[in-house]
Amino acid sequence: MTETTIPTVETDDAAVPAMGLGTWQLTDQTAYDAVRAALSVGLRHLDTAQLYDNEWAVGRALADSDVAREDVFLTTKVDPTNTSREAIADSVAGSLDRLGVDSVDLLLIHWPNPVADLETVMDALSAAQERGQTRHVGVSNFGVDRLDRARRLASVPVVTNQVLFHPFHPQHELLDYCQREGVLLTAYSPLAEGAALSDDVLADVGRSYDATPAQVALRWATQHENVVVIPKSTSRAHLAENRDSFGFTLSRRDHDRITRPSLLRTARLAVGSRLRDALPG
Ligand code: NAP
Repeated sequence: MTETTIPTVETDDAAVPAMGLGTWQLTDQTAYDAVRAALSVGLRHLDTAQLYDNEWAVGRALADSDVAREDVFLTTKVDPTNTSREAIADSVAGSLDRLGVDSVDLLLIHWPNPVADLETVMDALSAAQERGQTRHVGVSNFGVDRLDRARRLASVPVVTNQVLFHPFHPQHELLDYCQREGVLLTAYSPLAEGAALSDDVLADVGRSYDATPAQVALRWATQHENVVVIPKSTSRAHLAENRDSFGFTLSRRDHDRITRPSLLRTARLAVGSRLRDALPG
């Protein structure tokens, strides 16, 4: 497979590199090194969050690289325990400070907080965009109804919903809504937190394309209209491999064969302690 350039996914409201680096659970030097490696293999999209405790490391890595700030699509997410306009505004100022940037490209509310008023939250995100602290706003972990409400309440376009999306959790209803309405779906845990790597069908399909299971899972996701992926990796070889997933196209038949909704294999829906661990992601 040849080295590939990462395409951009465009809607009426935003243009986003189709693959970014996820940084959940990467802190300090590990986060710094992963961001440097990702930029060095050509990734130009970084995903962090207030809750990841790594904004400073992501920002430092970006500043120390020879890639210009304006060439990188930088996303952060507001900790949803911030429920008032003031708390959200303060938290965004804190993010920009830790990241060492004047603005981010995308600001998301990380989870719907049942005790927060959605109108206040969407107002605060919209205000951050109006103040120039972010180019775009979006949400994360929202279902169709809540996403629809959020879009009505915001005074600026809600450009994406960042959600769990992989071959065992294809989000048919939500994806259909996003495609119809021109909203991006940013796929988190696109490798099912590693579970896709040992999947027999992904391995089997990959043989005909000379592709690894990870590449097949990522290409499965990015062949959907309006979908952007943010796999996490600390390995330069894996980052380059993931980038090169754009170098082949799955046939309709193979694409359909890969899609296998399974609650048991949906890492983030697994019951027990993993769910608790999963919440900050
Ligand atoms: P993931 O990207 O599905 O899987 C990450 C795992 O896959 C790592 O262990 C990584 O190990 C491995 N990997 C990556 N590329 C590989 C390759 N080519 N070959 C073999 N192994 C490979 O998991 P994730 O971190 O849960 O999700 C990605 C990102 O989505 C997060 O980091 C975060 O930014 C975001 N996210 C957001 C939310 C939310 O609530 N909004 C929730 C979860 C995640 P190596 O380091 O060894 O490559």
